[in-house]
Amino acid sequence: MPLLVMKFGGTSVADLGRIENAAKKVQLEVERGYDVIVIVSAMSGKTNELVGWVETTSKLYDAREYDAVVASGENVTAGLMALRLQEMGVPARSWQGWQVPINTTSAHGSARFVSIPRDHIDAKFAEGFKVAVVAGFQGVSAEGRITTLGRGGSDTTAVAFAAAFGAERCDIYTDVDGVYTTDPRITAKARKLDKIAFEEMLELASLGAKVLQTRSVELAMRFKVRLRVLSSFEDTDETSGTLVCDEEEIMESKVVSGVAYSRDEAKMTLVSVEDRPGVASAIFGPLAEAGVNVDMIVQNISEKNYGTHTGAVTDMTFSVPVNQVARAQKAMQDALDAGIVRYDDLITDTDVAKVSVVGIGMRSQVGVAAKMFAALAAENINIKVIATSEIKISVLIDRKYLELAVQTLHDAFELEKA
Ligand code: ADP
Ligand code: ASP
Ligand code: MG
Repeated sequence: MPLLVMKFGGTSVADLGRIENAAKKVQLEVERGYDVIVIVSAMSGKTNELVGWVETTSKLYDAREYDAVVASGENVTAGLMALRLQEMGVPARSWQGWQVPINTTSAHGSARFVSIPRDHIDAKFAEGFKVAVVAGFQGVSAEGRITTLGRGGSDTTAVAFAAAFGAERCDIYTDVDGVYTTDPRITAKARKLDKIAFEEMLELASLGAKVLQTRSVELAMRFKVRLRVLSSFEDTDETSGTLVCDEEEIMESKVVSGVAYSRDEAKMTLVSVEDRPGVASAIFGPLAEAGVNVDMIVQNISEKNYGTHTGAVTDMTFSVPVNQVARAQKAMQDALDAGIVRYDDLITDTDVAKVSVVGIGMRSQVGVAAKMFAALAAENINIKVIATSEIKISVLIDRKYLELAVQTLHDAFELEKA
């Protein structure tokens, strides 16, 4: 039997009516002759609620118990989806991560897949079941504890199952009808893309476009999974949505293909750090050990004999997710107390956001950065930090200018035009 993976995100299973709507889409594919693995998210808002309960109960919570709690949202929707399908006459069975078992590392809150044995699910298909409903976002560690894959992780569960079971396609059903040039919630001029290259989708996702979890795109690229994003609220067929595929499959190639943003950033500056070999490692080592995801880094030109310092000092600026600020501050204070690093002050700005333009066309085109900076300057938006790679340029700006910056860049690179 040909096999499809269909993943339904939180808004697509937000209540019993939506679950029924999703189940009908599954039934349609079964009628077309497919066996289907359905991956479900928790009902929308549920995971946030569970995370909130954990954080209210315990500030520096035990990550194992965090996972035990937040994984539960998916258990509910998996069971309900199987029940709904059964009511419709479709033989279906649900699976929690540990039952498959979805074996992962024990990095609680950001676990990675180790293996997904097929035997249990294959056996059920062989018995005549048409649908296996699997709880997304979760797995089980070698220690036998429940793990989760990080927010948005059900996308990654879906791609991993598509790879493990050799699915014909992995369809990600969500509340938008595909991948857009930017978040359609920010500008009505955002344009749906028919196709997008893996590399571009990878950058957009990692720079904040949460339509797909970054790791899911990585896996799809590595295992050559045909990955599609489409709407669960519309009638769809083989041509609907956006296909994430190899660069070679795409005819149209603009220099910039999308604008991504990340709202919840913070900028931290260590003032007057002594400038000597090993200082970067003395700063970023402890941050890494504390589990802080440092993103952009800028080191200023050093000044000699500044203030009370003899010898060279510099300022080191870096960005972190805003919810990791406390953790980063503690790591830096501990490093200072332990004499691992010396600095005069740590300044934190929690009102910043990151805006990025992405496009594989940038590899062969000069002037993209100049155009981006000019467009932001024309709107009087100050750039605080810049980072570039082969196919992206990111800037850190004041959060209050975020929407304006996205709209401005979308206009500047004429992304509304095909
Ligand atoms: P789900 O619950 O189905 O996983 P998500 O909320 O995680 O859905 O992702 C879908 C959302 O991603 C959309 O509602 C949209 O606001 C947002 N988004 C951000 N950037 C983009 C983009 N470039 N194209 C489409 N959607 C985007
Ligand atoms: N429910 C989880 C979350 O909100 C996983 C997912 O929906 O992909 O992050
Ligand atoms: Mg999601």
